[in-house]
Amino acid sequence: MALIVRIDVDRPYGREPFLRHVASRVSSDFWWPRMESLGYLRELKEMLRWLNERGARSYAFFRRCTLPDESVLELMDSGQHVIGLHLENSRSFKTFLREKEDLERHLGRRVHAFSKHGSGGRRFGRSHYAPYEPVKYVDWARKSAMDLFLGNLEDPTLEPEITDGLRVYPSAFWLEPSWRDTGRFPLEWLVRRAKETDIVLLVHPENVLASSDLAADFQTLTGAITTRIFP
Ligand SMILES: [Zn+2]
Repeated sequence: MALIVRIDVDRPYGREPFLRHVASRVSSDFWWPRMESLGYLRELKEMLRWLNERGARSYAFFRRCTLPDESVLELMDSGQHVIGLHLENSRSFKTFLREKEDLERHLGRRVHAFSKHGSGGRRFGRSHYAPYEPVKYVDWARKSAMDLFLGNLEDPTLEPEITDGLRVYPSAFWLEPSWRDTGRFPLEWLVRRAKETDIVLLVHPENVLASSDLAADFQTLTGAITTRIFP
């Protein structure tokens, strides 16, 4: 069994230094040019290079403000990673479809997988609809013939539901410790669990790259455990 690596690409310019942090915040709400000089998606590219060196594969989920540029697409394609939607405006089926179609137009290909930005509570930016309503998303996934939804619950023991070609993983093992019961679910637990079943490992590149410990954990896990993409 294997790791399903889920990369939520939240910030176009990461968190550091301050100017990049500001650019990330502003471009989440307003139009802002993609600036190579500020390191557009630098953290994601670094992460994809590690995965490609190990022959490990992942799903990367993009927001409107983090759409993949040419160099990200090259890294994604050469490592055979899968592009998904990181849904922000989940107010209705219509707003969901609009985001999905915008991403598909940008890519020139269909998108079959998605995840949701935010787990309820705080609103992150103008186009973000904060409530977390997974039952709705599963319904939309069916209506639009998508085949994978990766949910945000934090109990990594929850089982997936697989019906009629749609796979729903309600929860993930969040690498960043703020969203994980680290006492119950240390990294060793994940290594053991991945031997028995497929399990989602969720990461945010700007957090992982900002911490040498998390970066080392990510490299160790994706180097030691087989990763999987569904056909
Ligand atoms: Zn997010």
